Amino acid sequence: MPMHRWIVLLSFIVLVLFPTTAQDDIDATDQPTPRPMPTTVLVEGDATVEFYFSSLIQGGVGIIRVDAPDITQARAFFLNDEFRFFEIGEDGFYALLVVNIDTQPRDYELTVLIEQSDGNITVSRPLTVDSAGYITQSFDIPGDRAFLADPEIERAEFAKLDAITEGVTLEPLWGDTGFSLPIDAEVTSPFGTFRVLNDAMQTRHTGWDQRAPVGTPVRAMGAGKVAFAGQLDIRGNYIMIDHGYGVYSGYAHFSQVHVTRGQTITKGQIIGMSGNTGRSSGPHLHWEMVVNGDWIDGLSFIDMWVPSESS
Ligand SMILES: [Zn+2]
Repeated sequence: MPMHRWIVLLSFIVLVLFPTTAQDDIDATDQPTPRPMPTTVLVEGDATVEFYFSSLIQGGVGIIRVDAPDITQARAFFLNDEFRFFEIGEDGFYALLVVNIDTQPRDYELTVLIEQSDGNITVSRPLTVDSAGYITQSFDIPGDRAFLADPEIERAEFAKLDAITEGVTLEPLWGDTGFSLPIDAEVTSPFGTFRVLNDAMQTRHTGWDQRAPVGTPVRAMGAGKVAFAGQLDIRGNYIMIDHGYGVYSGYAHFSQVHVTRGQTITKGQIIGMSGNTGRSSGPHLHWEMVVNGDWIDGLSFIDMWVPSESS
């Protein structure tokens, strides 16, 4: 079984067997986790590049930190994408490396360019992208909403969301304690699933589904600012939170939305009540995450250590 599946299975066991632990995770007063040991360190001249992941999967995220005197800017180049390093407090410069969900599993070259006031340093290494083993599921969208199983409607909605997540707030709004699940409930459909709707339309699951009766309070997964609060065709009543540095979380199918665009949100704050609006085949919470413009596996991201100003 790939590591990714183990993480999913483990998260599921923790949720089901130790619900109080999951509840504690939601508590906004939980403590910051100190920076862990890097899994790999590369040294070039007076610069070090530290890696905080041991493998990368399709739809996954890996954290890199660079340290060198007088850094003016640092960038990573990987999978035809550019990833900017952000300075977080006194802790150094970090990049969130994202693997698009459709990336072919194989080795790819990573190049990190560190610009200092007196010159540049380049560090390269190959990184392996592993298959995440995403499964296929079939769904029936009920008669009165069957028209929403339409690739054109989906394309238009993705374009709308892309326009929101294109914006990068140059601050780590997510705070000191990272991210937690929005509700404490059973996972019913995982991220990345290939989906067939009404035996016809093929699509991809951009988030995770959790079982939730209409009216379940939904909590912000991390601190941030509301980037969208309103109605979408497929996602129904929807909230998207900007957590800074290109990290966003989205929450769909709400019955009630309790926040407005631009509002500052604390981790664990109730942002609305779950529901069954939009292209939904029954009451549930669909939540999803975007990093650097790509849909990523949010459950793996929650489990990761993320840097903060008090790391
Ligand atoms: Zn979903």
